[in-house]
Formats: sequence, C-alpha cells, structure tokens
Amino acid sequence: MQKEYGFELYSIAVDLEFGCPNRDSDGQGGCTFCPSDGARAVQIKDAKSLEEQIQKGIAFAKKRYKAKHFMLYIQAYSGTFATLRQQKEAYEKLLNLYDFKAIAIGTRPDCLGDETLAYLHDLNQKISLHVELGVQTLNDKTLSHINRGHDAKASVDAIKKLKAYGLKVFAHIIVGLPHENRADWSHTVQTLIALKVSGIKFHNLHIIKNTALHVAFQKEPWKIFDAYEYAEELIHLLRMLPCDMVVQRLSSDTPKNDLIAPIWHMQKGQFANYIHQTMHYRFGKSSVDERFWSEEYGEYYYPKSGAIKQARELFIAHSQLEKRLTCKDVYLLDIGFGFGVNSLEALKITSKNTLHVSALDQDARIAKNLPKSIDFIVGDIRYTLKKLDKKYDVIFLDPFCEDKNASMLSVEVFMMLKKLLKKDGVMITSTKEESVRVGCSHAGFKSVVVSHGDIKGLVVTHADEPLNGEPYHDPHLVWSDKMIAAYRNQLKKGS
Ligand code: SF4
Repeated sequence: MQKEYGFELYSIAVDLEFGCPNRDSDGQGGCTFCPSDGARAVQIKDAKSLEEQIQKGIAFAKKRYKAKHFMLYIQAYSGTFATLRQQKEAYEKLLNLYDFKAIAIGTRPDCLGDETLAYLHDLNQKISLHVELGVQTLNDKTLSHINRGHDAKASVDAIKKLKAYGLKVFAHIIVGLPHENRADWSHTVQTLIALKVSGIKFHNLHIIKNTALHVAFQKEPWKIFDAYEYAEELIHLLRMLPCDMVVQRLSSDTPKNDLIAPIWHMQKGQFANYIHQTMHYRFGKSSVDERFWSEEYGEYYYPKSGAIKQARELFIAHSQLEKRLTCKDVYLLDIGFGFGVNSLEALKITSKNTLHVSALDQDARIAKNLPKSIDFIVGDIRYTLKKLDKKYDVIFLDPFCEDKNASMLSVEVFMMLKKLLKKDGVMITSTKEESVRVGCSHAGFKSVVVSHGDIKGLVVTHADEPLNGEPYHDPHLVWSDKMIAAYRNQLKKGS
C-alpha cells in the first residue's frame, strides 16, 4: 500500500446486500462455512444505511488503528451479484460519500460477466480497483463438499479474464478445509502463483455458529488447527510465494461469540509476530557472531569461562552421562540447542552404548553442519515438546537469557518436561533463577543449585513438595516472553 499509494490504506467494509447466487432468495444454503450474514464485518453489524456503515467503519479504523486513508471494501456476500445498473449506482454512490483512495470488490468467480468486467475496467481507470475473489480451494472434490456451487476451472477462468481486463486480483483461500491436506493447499497456492494473481488472503478454517459446517462438526468433530499447527502450514505456503506477491491476511477473524472452533489463545497480532519471528529464526541471517555474541539479545551465549567448560562441567558432569552410558543407551533431550556445544561435547564420550540426541531450538540459523545422529527439531519449545512421544534419561535445558526466554521456563513447560523425563532421569539447567526453581518445584521436581565459578545451574530430579514462591506461568502455552515475565511480576506484587 505504501509503495503504491504512498501511505497505508485501511479497508472500510460495506455490505451492499446484493446477496449471493449460491444462496436461495431467503438466505438458505450457501457455502458450508459461510454464516447467514455472508461474513459482514463486525464493526458494521448493526448499521442500517450505507452512510451509517461507512461512518461506523471509518470511526472504528481511526480509533483502533489511527487510520488516515481508506479503501472502500465491498465485502459481504458477492459484490457483483446485481444488474450492471445496480452495481454502477451503488459503487458510485459509495465513492461519493468519502474520499476513498481505492476500492476493493469481493465476489465469486461466477459473478463476473463481460458487462461487469468492462465496467470494472473503466472504473479502474478512475480509481485503483482490487477484485477480491473467493477461490477457497482449487480442489473440485472439496468445492463440491463445501457446496461452493462452482468448480476450480471457474476460478481459474475468472482470474484469467480479470487479468485480461487489466484488473488486480487478490485470491481468498482457506487452509484446513475438511478432507484437504498440505498437498491440496500447496496445489491451490502454486496454481495462483502460476496465474500471477496480485496477492493472496489466507484464512484458517473457522467453524462458525449455525453454519452447515457447524452442524457437521457437532455430529462428528474433526481436528482443527491450533495456532502452532496452522503456523506450520502457513509458513510452508508463504515460502512458495514470489517476493513481490502481496499477502493480505494471515489468519481468519471471527467474533468470539460466533466462533465454535478453533479457540486460539494467541491474538491476531501475536500470531503475525509469531510467524515473523519463526521465519526469521528458521531462514533469516544469524545475529550471533563467532565470539558467541548475540546482537538480538545483547549478551554472550555462554559464560565467560567458555561454552565447552559449561558443557563439560555443568551439563555432562552433573547429568552423570558417562556413568549412565556405561550401563545402557541414553536418550538425551537438548533444549535451547544453540550452537549445539552441549550435545556435541556429550557425543565425544566413548562408550559401547549409544547416546541418542534429540535437539530443540526455535533458532535454526546457528546450528550448522550437525552430525546426522542428532535429531534436530526447529520450533517454539511449547509446540515441539508436544510432538515428542519418547521418555528421556537426560534433559539439558539451556535458556541462555532467562527473562527474554521466559516461555521456556514456565510451570506449564516444566509439567510437560516432567512427563518426558524418566523416573531415574535428570534435567540440568543453565540457570539457577528463583523463578525456575519454584517453577520446577510446582511441576513436581526437586532441584539443587550447582556452581563452578561463573557457571551456574540446577540439577533437577523428580520429587515431592513444591517450594514457596512464584514461578512463570504460561497457561495456554502461547504467551509472549514479555507477557509471561510481566504476569509473574504482577502475581508477585499481588502476593
Ligand atoms: S459465495 Fe460467499 S456469500 Fe455466498 S455462501 Fe459462499 S461464502 Fe457465503
């Protein structure tokens, strides 16, 4: 927007009440995921006239986003499902009501006759016009299953026609429709790329109250993506896009009262940050130099006495790894893997038995040239821990910078770790902070502080009574580090 118009434009959604060819005249039927109001924007839910819709929309955007410039967005139902005369009158009336810088019209592939296309072409000469096309998926079976009322070819043909008329096309797609998998949504996105659409609006599937999908879901619920799972699919798709393709939306937005599933505890902005941060950690450039100095954290990755000394004297010695390996194979879970020094040093122990290493880190940029024997899992620890189904003899927990990585140290994480640690297992942490000791204790561990000069940590084993004090909390396992640290401070002040 900034590149094209010189500033950000905020969409002012309007419902022209043209209806939709996929619904009966009484509003029945339609796509199985679509609510009866055709997904009217929440801020104009009660507005009666067009003027009131615009006033409410602009007031909302100004207050919420400090918005200054606006784009008119014909959003609900199908914006071109009307006679040419009705369309012309409606768009022109709306464009006269406010100094909109652009207009976006949401519609279906089967509502774009030649007359409409010729008119939209002319309108595009007067004001920048975006066509937001409901594609949803390009899988015919799914289209029929969701009662979309057109096939994939209709979408492909519509995109080609719109482009032939020189119009910008933004495709809406849904990720997570029933019976679809990664191959399906990848195929949809790849086809849209080949068709050179201007952009994509991604939606994760929402089950909305009183839709056909809701009824089906009540009868036989199926798995709907949580925020972390959807993020994995979305990142996979985002990585396919050419860098000049606009991404207009990352996730769906349904008013709380209307949403059946999924119930996320991650807010929309927080989800966008998570995607940004995760992609940065996986594919960006490392900000850690060869001295182990992290630009991002403004700290050294290891104590002054050195990474190797910390690996040997804290992690390896206190977990009694050598002794454990003399008896049997050992399963090690290395969390906060970083450069991998702890595990790489551990793998130097010679033994007739094998050390099996699973490593977790959200930052994949610094772990380079790892031996194949290390099973390296990239991602937020709260998500990746859930995916583990083994038990471990030894856990290394190296959060590096406690308060900036509070999400690795909450009671809820320790509770997950408790399930993963064998009865006679041990966890070694590179922090001895009080919050961590208390957190371990609340999760049913006992801990002993150990120190060797500036190398300090905890030796944690299964045990009895919790300690007094306040640990970190992350009740839904999605809060940001800042939120987790702030919540603990708040609880401490309250107590
Ligand atoms: S075409 Fe659009 S408005 Fe019509 S039923 Fe489907 S989603 Fe709803």
